[in-house]
Amino acid sequence: MKGFCEKCRNIVEYSVKTVNKEKLLKGKNLKYISKVAYCNECKEEIFVPEIRDYNLNALDNAYRDSEDLIKVNDIEKILEKYNIGKRPLSLLLGWGEGTLTRYIDGDTPTKPYSEILKQILASNDYYREILERNKDNISSVAYRKSMAAVDSINMDAVSETNKLEAATQYLLFLTSEITPLALQKLLYFVQGFHKAFTDKFIFSEDCEAWAHGPVYRDVFYKYREYGYNPIEEKDLSIDNINLTESEKELFYYIVLYFGCYSGKVLEDMTHSEVPWRKARHGLKAGESSDRIINKADITSYFYSVKDKYKMLNYIDIKDYSKDLFNKLYC
Ligand SMILES: [Zn+2]
Repeated sequence: MKGFCEKCRNIVEYSVKTVNKEKLLKGKNLKYISKVAYCNECKEEIFVPEIRDYNLNALDNAYRDSEDLIKVNDIEKILEKYNIGKRPLSLLLGWGEGTLTRYIDGDTPTKPYSEILKQILASNDYYREILERNKDNISSVAYRKSMAAVDSINMDAVSETNKLEAATQYLLFLTSEITPLALQKLLYFVQGFHKAFTDKFIFSEDCEAWAHGPVYRDVFYKYREYGYNPIEEKDLSIDNINLTESEKELFYYIVLYFGCYSGKVLEDMTHSEVPWRKARHGLKAGESSDRIINKADITSYFYSVKDKYKMLNYIDIKDYSKDLFNKLYC
């Protein structure tokens, strides 16, 4: 870093130190961290415009913290998040068209204006409402661009929260004529083998040890009307589905090696495995239960399966499913 040292009368290299500062501003004693530049030649303090700007900004932020006011970089985040300009946003809010430009340049907003901006940053829905209500104040191009940004934020939020739902959709896509019973078992095998292969659970949801095997409760209620019949999903959509390519690959192999069996066979398979048996310890066959299948038990069981069958790739899951079937029926 180089700056001009008045004492050396030359452009010099400088070093920066941080200093704790206190300053009285508008009746408030503000504490903040400022920076000071020193000439590397003569060790005297030197003036650097960028460092002055940094210090003014630090003081400004300390003041805004003390008054609980929005900061300049948070206002910039609003513009970026919703893909909207300073002027159109001012107009949407019914403010003077130069208001946000002044705020970005460092003017301090009043408390009510600051509160509105903070809420806009925090809530997509709040902003969407303002955008919809006042769209006539801005150009149709600006409106469409910003609405597209809001929509994509909401889509991300939805897809992030519904991994289990995405998995269900994808299994329905890969299979035909699948019953709720079989679907539940495939989800369970996906969870177990995903953990064994990647050390991560794909679903945060817990699986329950019902009489007919492992069950994800939300999925059960979604498709309960089908009973023992195949599920007919009318709105099947796998565009932009919240699954990675590697996750999809695992689904493919689970369907290939387990999807060929009926729900009843899959039920017997899961009944022979430790996690479900352990969760139901002490219960009679067929007794209803909402006991959770311990994630730690799923982990240790599927790790041991992966080890025992020396699995390296998803394709090796084949040996396990074949073996399981032979043990039960041959
Ligand atoms: Zn100097």
